[in-house]
Amino acid sequence: MTRHMLVAGNWKMNGDRAALAELDVIAAAAQAAQPAGVDVAVCPPFTLVAPAAERVVGLPIGAQDCHHAAKGAHTGCVSVPMLKEAGAQLVIVGHSERRADQHETSPEVMAKAAAVLDHGLIAIVCVGESEAERDAGQTLDVVGAQLDGSIPRSATAAGLVVAYEPVWAIGTGRTPSIDDVAEVHAFIRQRLGALLGGEGEKVRILYGGSVKADNARALMGVADVDGALVGGASLTAAQFVPIIEAAVATRG
Ligand code: PEP
Repeated sequence: MTRHMLVAGNWKMNGDRAALAELDVIAAAAQAAQPAGVDVAVCPPFTLVAPAAERVVGLPIGAQDCHHAAKGAHTGCVSVPMLKEAGAQLVIVGHSERRADQHETSPEVMAKAAAVLDHGLIAIVCVGESEAERDAGQTLDVVGAQLDGSIPRSATAAGLVVAYEPVWAIGTGRTPSIDDVAEVHAFIRQRLGALLGGEGEKVRILYGGSVKADNARALMGVADVDGALVGGASLTAAQFVPIIEAAVATRG
């Protein structure tokens, strides 16, 4: 089946108002990519969600985390309705940096994803193994357990995107082999079918981890890779636009 691709940028804790000028060029590339069936989004830090969403049209803006509750006594947290009011259309949940740094568990990730879906936004749920887990031959077990624990069973393909991000590939310049990417994505597709029935076939599965202009086409050309979640290379239009164009080229 043909799924729309998604190329999503994760700015992490980078960027300031001046950096939003990059979005003007990225938005133009996003609009050019639309007819080929390639969607583009950028997830800046919380403080830039509203100015980013106000600045550009045709480029969905997302956040990098949320609280599962709509409001309440949760100092320092941001809820999905707040993000929605700020103009966010997507929210990344369960990024490995949050699973590691903030000790987020899969049940917490599932609650956050459910909140995103309940408010009509798109949840990008991240999964991926550590290097030790890969070396121990546990990749599929780890990814399977994260999917089982993090994916709300009520999810539909309109509201859910899964990102496979091997932890050891994030920000390192290293990527799995094409065969390894194909194996994990096929496994995720199968597992989504088991969890979501027919919807599982329609959910987009992104690859993330050191995606750059020079490897993007090979990675996004793999079966069941429906786009990319891009960290470092999404910070400038000069690096991000060629990745958008690579996604378009895989459709050509
Ligand atoms: C990420 O953290 O989501 C990511 C993919 O980072 P990078 O592209 O920098 O490896």
